[in-house]
Amino acid sequence: MNLSKNINSAHQTFLDWKKVPFGERQKLLLKLADVLDKNKEDYAKIITTEMHKPITQSVAEIEKSAGMIRYYAKADNVLKPEKIKTEFDVSEVHYDALGIILGVMPWNFPFWQVLRFAIPAILAGNVVLLKHASICFGSGDAIEKAFSDAGFPKFIFQNLRIGHDDIKTILENPYVRGVSLTGSEKAGASVAALAGKSIKKSVLELGGSDAFIVLEDADLEKAAKDGAAAKLQNTGQVCNAAKRFIVHQSIEKAFVPQFIEVYNSYQPADPLKKDTKLGKMARPDLADELEAQYKKAQRHGAEVVLALERIDDSTFRPGIIKVEEGNPILKEELFGPLAILMIGKNDEDILKLANDIPFGLGNAVWTKDKKRAQFFIENLESGTVSVNKSTSSDIRLPFGGAKASGYGVELSLHAIKEFTQIKTVVGN
Ligand code: NAP
Repeated sequence: MNLSKNINSAHQTFLDWKKVPFGERQKLLLKLADVLDKNKEDYAKIITTEMHKPITQSVAEIEKSAGMIRYYAKADNVLKPEKIKTEFDVSEVHYDALGIILGVMPWNFPFWQVLRFAIPAILAGNVVLLKHASICFGSGDAIEKAFSDAGFPKFIFQNLRIGHDDIKTILENPYVRGVSLTGSEKAGASVAALAGKSIKKSVLELGGSDAFIVLEDADLEKAAKDGAAAKLQNTGQVCNAAKRFIVHQSIEKAFVPQFIEVYNSYQPADPLKKDTKLGKMARPDLADELEAQYKKAQRHGAEVVLALERIDDSTFRPGIIKVEEGNPILKEELFGPLAILMIGKNDEDILKLANDIPFGLGNAVWTKDKKRAQFFIENLESGTVSVNKSTSSDIRLPFGGAKASGYGVELSLHAIKEFTQIKTVVGN
């Protein structure tokens, strides 16, 4: 692959695209949303074939992506110059597009993650190069074609079939002005270091080990049902999935059996069938990793509540382990159908357990007591706190992590400004 040719073509497109009015860019977004709707069954098949998500969830991913594109197609122009009152005749804040932005993206939502980053960046006047997960190059090609079918200028979005080593070359090129990575902490740290070396902006959307806190006055039936879905959606391979169920000790006996019952109703089946709720893991090595973590947790005292059973190279029956404070597994993300159960003595203790991890993406708390909810809202260390609902990204609201879950914001109107240069214009 001739990377400098790709970069030069992208740069030429940027020089024209940045001059296209915001409203004209939005008209093309509407067309892109229509292309997604029209092809959603085909795109869903590509996703499920590449990374084994249940097909209904792949269709839902395309529908959510089309909805997000329409949200930006109708969004207010937040990039209009802002006037600030000073003693000068002119004092304004402008938001200029940066240039080429590289996206380094994961396999778990092969359309959604890419478009969630690319759409606001392109709406702001930038152009995009994509390095997709190596098992999702087909999804990357399909997205590139969708931009072209919608009538976007050539080279506005290019899917590059490249490996890790090429990221350095791309980030060193002066036309490339930023990078957005969604993926693991390790990949994020490596790519952000490369960006930092070239003084380029980075946005990192990384892993999580979110708490799903159930207090004694919660609607236990709903919490059990939503909790199981929040953990097992996408075969447990979701960054902001509920990963640690922290339950008030007084309801352990009331909550845990009903949670296990719903949880265990998710059994693996053929991901291409419409009634399948649990697919297989994206790659066999990821299943090996999850199994090793399961054993590690037990070596450090974890109790098996529901056995994680591997039935072939990439498929598990879902499991639950009960973990005490201090188990080193709590410093890791469990990316697959294995949940952690913890028991807390009181609100202070539960908060301490919830925050005592390296990550901070989207914690959830279940209680009918607004005062207790407020205590958790104010003290949980995460980019999102959900109350009486499981955490899921909402197009209209900012999404991002705290601590080792990353930095920067996606979704909402805030994301449109992420890859812009704030320019101050002042004088008489
Ligand atoms: P990953 O292994 O970190 O891969 C993500 C992307 O980074 C892929 O394109 C991958 O390419 C590349 N990559 C991996 N290691 C790299 C390195 N050392 N240098 C440069 N690039 C590298 O993550 P994944 O397994 O695809 O996705 C799962 C992770 O993503 C989980 O931790 C999950 O929590 C996180 N995630 C976070 C969010 C969020 O919004 N916060 C959303 C979804 C997923 P290759 O495929 O070629 O290795």
